[in-house]
Amino acid sequence: MTIPDIIIAVDGYSSTGKSTFARLVAAEFGFLYLDSGAMYRGVTLAGLEAGVIGDGKIDEAGVKGIIGPLDLHFRREEGTTKLFLGDRCIEKEIREWEVSQYVSPVSAIPFVRNWVDEKLHAFSAGGRVIMDGRDIGTTVFPNAELKIFMTADEDVRARRRYDEMVLKGIETTVEEVAANLKDRDYRDSHRPTSPLRRAEDAYVLDNTHMTLHEEVVWLLGLIQGKFGLLDSPGLSC
Ligand code: C5P
Repeated sequence: MTIPDIIIAVDGYSSTGKSTFARLVAAEFGFLYLDSGAMYRGVTLAGLEAGVIGDGKIDEAGVKGIIGPLDLHFRREEGTTKLFLGDRCIEKEIREWEVSQYVSPVSAIPFVRNWVDEKLHAFSAGGRVIMDGRDIGTTVFPNAELKIFMTADEDVRARRRYDEMVLKGIETTVEEVAANLKDRDYRDSHRPTSPLRRAEDAYVLDNTHMTLHEEVVWLLGLIQGKFGLLDSPGLSC
């Protein structure tokens, strides 16, 4: 199946399955997958490790001090992309509870957003990219050829995220997870710089009652309708 060389922007609320969806599309159709949330999580982790974030506080001057030389980058490994800080793969650490608690206020800092945006543009230079986040279709790639806005019922999202965390051995409760999602969605939608919102030309994907396979079939229908360039349908997932 052929999908043209386009940029696909996938935005939406926390834990709507954006990364899982985007990773699968990338693997199936030979796109570069970039997880912009991982970048904000990486900056947060580095800040925690440097001691400029912690105890309920964010020392903005301290974050500014560490961010310039921060070597955060993606590497293509095992058929997907993983985030590295220098030579260390930090995919696991960035999903930990402490990072999730600070990442939204950290990502609301304008100089952090500029720094991440510049990196995302540099990483995407080759094109044929699918990127997920909160402001990809509105700010990072306002001219992306295809924009998707993902949403799902709040309880369903909390339950999915909780199950995911339990599988990773992270101790938490559904209530705690639900409260964190609510808090992040509120902060992400209400910050002054690049708030989370649906781009006017984004297609809404509500996956409350959908399987991952159905989501990809939905996307292919959309691409076929928009670009009319697909060969025979056939998915390995
Ligand atoms: O996607 P994920 O939940 O890992 O993102 C973590 C956080 O990073 C979000 O809650 C949001 O605060 C921030 N973020 C952002 N803009 C993006 C991607 C993520 O502000 N494009």
